Amino acid sequence: MSDYTMNSKEFFNALAEGDLIGSHCQECGAYFVPQRRICPKCHSEKSEIVTLSGKGKLAAYTVISVPPVSMAEAGYNAGNPYCVGIVTLAEGPRISAQIVDLDISRPEDIAIGTDLEMTTITRGEGEERKTFLAFKPA
Ligand SMILES: [Zn+2]
Repeated sequence: MSDYTMNSKEFFNALAEGDLIGSHCQECGAYFVPQRRICPKCHSEKSEIVTLSGKGKLAAYTVISVPPVSMAEAGYNAGNPYCVGIVTLAEGPRISAQIVDLDISRPEDIAIGTDLEMTTITRGEGEERKTFLAFKPA
């Protein structure tokens, strides 16, 4: 249980506090990240907000050297690529996020199944300041 609400902005408010939140369906037990008011699996409205462990395993990844505009503005380019992965959370759901602290100069050495834990990346200044979910090796 947590004090967070179902408001979609709350996911980022929680990240700014270092918490990864999701919803837990009390009907079928499924977890969803970000939180969903109505369970996408069984359509129950009996979902509660939960703070997740932030632990997971790397399920898939890619190293991106031609970034979209937002990531190019964050300083990534062909000479400074970054890794995006699909992480299977300990609670079950999969989520896509940037993976940091991996040696991406040798992407072939990155192992599927690597234990990860959540971290956050903050970008922008003032009103534009925003916290993003990321994962790093545990
Ligand atoms: Zn459900």
